[in-house]
Amino acid sequence: MSRSAHPAGPRHADVLPEGHYSAPPADLNVLDRKVWAQTVTRADDGVVSVGGIPVTRLAEEFGTPAYILDEADFRARARAWRTAFGPDADVFYAGKAFLSRAVVRWLDEEGLNLDVCSGGELATALSAGMPAERIAFHGNNKSGEEIHRAISAGVGRIVVDSFQEIVRVAHAAQSLGKRQKVQIRITVGVEAHTHEFIATAHEDQKFGIPLAGGQAAEAVRRALQLDGLELIGIHSHIGSQIFDMSGFEVAAHRVVGLLRDIRDEHGVELPEIDLGGGLGIAYTSDDDPREPHEIAKALTEIVTRECENARLRTPRISVEPGRAIVGPTAFTLYEVGTVKPLEGLRTYVSVDGGMSDNIRTALYDAEYSVALVSRASDAAPTLARVVGKHCESGDIVVKDAFLPADLAPGDLIAVPATGAYCRSMASNYNHVLRPPVVAVEGGAARVIVRRETEEDLLRLDVG
Ligand SMILES: *Cc1c(COP(=O)(O)O)cnc(C)c1O
Repeated sequence: MSRSAHPAGPRHADVLPEGHYSAPPADLNVLDRKVWAQTVTRADDGVVSVGGIPVTRLAEEFGTPAYILDEADFRARARAWRTAFGPDADVFYAGKAFLSRAVVRWLDEEGLNLDVCSGGELATALSAGMPAERIAFHGNNKSGEEIHRAISAGVGRIVVDSFQEIVRVAHAAQSLGKRQKVQIRITVGVEAHTHEFIATAHEDQKFGIPLAGGQAAEAVRRALQLDGLELIGIHSHIGSQIFDMSGFEVAAHRVVGLLRDIRDEHGVELPEIDLGGGLGIAYTSDDDPREPHEIAKALTEIVTRECENARLRTPRISVEPGRAIVGPTAFTLYEVGTVKPLEGLRTYVSVDGGMSDNIRTALYDAEYSVALVSRASDAAPTLARVVGKHCESGDIVVKDAFLPADLAPGDLIAVPATGAYCRSMASNYNHVLRPPVVAVEGGAARVIVRRETEEDLLRLDVG
């Protein structure tokens, strides 16, 4: 059953859905290694620390809410992906998951490339010194200005997404006297999500050019004719939070089929294939993500086998993990403001942030875990819902979780695995100020994205 489809009704408290938290964990003080960043530990005094710093000290120094990011863990994950794929493949970090100049520098140092999908992300990458040739530019509606800027800067590749864009990129490149490397993004009729994938009828979406009906083949024909373009490969991205490799298997089969048709029609073997991102992480103890080396092995084997069958030279593979690198490396630290036990239902725990710092629960029905981190507790577990401070009843951070029954205002709680798509999707709803991102490493903490201030808000409001 798709985990996103589980019923979440008001009677959750006494009728827990099957396969969900059917029972509270044996000890709420134990932190599941799977969902917490690598250096997170609970000390003998009960206080949780990360990067050698107690969360109580982080809260005092930087305030709450705050995203706390374990730099050593980020670097280790980036390196693990790089090492797993080796020198004959490329790893592009998907900047949309979370991007800041510090992150760009870490990626550069760890030998990863970078995906951007807007002028703003491109500007961030360039201003932090990422070499342009290691940047890929994505998006289904890049503006003329963005295209011009990307080509002028010398980005390594533009992933073209439509027939119009093929022409726009070619013209822009020619007017700049350049030949731009491009990949064509195609949709292969596969949508993968978590434990399921749908292998037909998923061309009904805004991204890419459908393989079906010969449209992708026609796009290739046009791209090969244009002097401003150097077509280096085909791109396919099939979904998000994927655990099952079978969706990639079907996608690779179809992409390689197109490469074979291109060879047969044009006599060219395109040198690259990009399989996108979307690899899943553990948000709760129920999730079992794969290690980068397993993913690399599986993807390489699939592409190699498909190419052997098609009698093609195996192209250079690239992948684009975002969530799988940054997701597990951060948690959101909140202070509990109110605790409202509703008899026979659940306890509502209100924190000092909410849907403005984590929209994923409201938007995708995403599941998260949560723990009391400023102290240990021997109190009995109680079914809780962690909610924010916004004027909206859908303002839920963690839908169902067990917290100690003695939880009280002033306690610090933390929601793990919020490194991806939380700060990057944060909003100013209710004019709430977006939290900082604090990087911790080896006993030191530093702000890499500062907290918004009321001045920041008012600066945009010109009166
Ligand atoms: C979003 C996206 C990614 C990254 O997805 P994750 O789930 O964060 O790994 C990679 N490639 C493309 C084209 C994307 O749109």
